Amino acid sequence: MNKIRDQFLPYSLPSLGKEEIQEVVETLQSGWLTMGPKTERFEKEFSQHLGVRFAVGLNSCTAALHLALLAHGIKEGDEVILPSFTFAATANVVVHAGAKPVFADIDPVSLNLDPQQVKRKLTPKTKAVLPVHYGGWPVALEEIQEIADQNGLVIIEDAAHALGSEYHGKKVGTFGNTTCFSFYATKNISTGEGGMLTTDDDRVADFAFKNRLHGISRDAWKRYTAEGSWYYQVEDAGWKYNMNDIQASLGIHQLQKLPLFLKKRNEYAKLYEENLKGIKQVKISSPFSDVRHAYQLYSVLLDEFSRDDFIKLLATRKIGTSVHFIPLHLQSYYRKNFGCAKGDLPVTENVFERIVSLPLYPSMTRDDVLYVIDSIREIFGR
Ligand SMILES: *Cc1c(COP(=O)(O)O)cnc(C)c1O
Repeated sequence: MNKIRDQFLPYSLPSLGKEEIQEVVETLQSGWLTMGPKTERFEKEFSQHLGVRFAVGLNSCTAALHLALLAHGIKEGDEVILPSFTFAATANVVVHAGAKPVFADIDPVSLNLDPQQVKRKLTPKTKAVLPVHYGGWPVALEEIQEIADQNGLVIIEDAAHALGSEYHGKKVGTFGNTTCFSFYATKNISTGEGGMLTTDDDRVADFAFKNRLHGISRDAWKRYTAEGSWYYQVEDAGWKYNMNDIQASLGIHQLQKLPLFLKKRNEYAKLYEENLKGIKQVKISSPFSDVRHAYQLYSVLLDEFSRDDFIKLLATRKIGTSVHFIPLHLQSYYRKNFGCAKGDLPVTENVFERIVSLPLYPSMTRDDVLYVIDSIREIFGR
């Protein structure tokens, strides 16, 4: 057996440096902690990075998804089609909007919403499709767009994993849909907690800018500055979903480092792929040539070997893993309230039984990746 490392290797860690620390310290010293000039700067740079008209800074991707649904008028009596193979946020926000989440099955290779399965779930009540770019592999947007166009549906993209993903040469976030990004600690860039809604639509942007802060007019945060006024109007019963300047201080520098982060993630993903592809119990989902994978996750599927045993064996070698995701249609809330049951989504269920996420993040070293590879080889006697 190889020597077991001393330190536990987590499956994910944020990559923060002195630039972020310096910026946060400056913000703390400035006296302006809540939403303000740093949030505005981060929004401006984020929208420029993607090439979209509006970026709305929020306290989470969950908030972005919720506001996106409301901005598009999704309400009680409506149905929204989404994968079950996702985090709780994607479906919970549909419930928050008063609508019904309708789970569709995924493609066994991309692990993204299968357009054919979306078609099967259409009813006269369907108003929106909420695809997730699983792990950073962009969903088949053109096919989903066609279904949406034919049926008068809006598309709201859960791009929590997909900052840096490209589909047919275009960045995720630039397909003309409302798109929601996450800056949670494990995501491709992190502000601790945080999210961004992006859109080219004036009406959606206005709604999000206003309703992220109690439905009061967009520039109300300036009321405590020299150029601000104390007066404001409450135009909607909005939410408290704004980003703050401490988060934005991290985001500004994280965004600048994104190309570097993506390079590392791709390099390590390649290293995993090259070294694991010879092991017959480990199935790798490899990228298409015409998509750019952001590798927020590096997931493999196990064949004829227990996923749970695999996780335990890696843990004894001090390697952290995770499972993305426990299907939502198997969760007690969705079983109880929406009649979901085992057997509803065969591909999702099969993938869930076999999948595991390996450590992948820019602050890992090449040796860390090789250690994981050697450990896996050892488990399968290679
Ligand atoms: C992380 C995640 C979210 C939620 O992001 P938050 O910023 O934590 O609200 C939504 N969808 C998916 C697929 C995620 O992985």
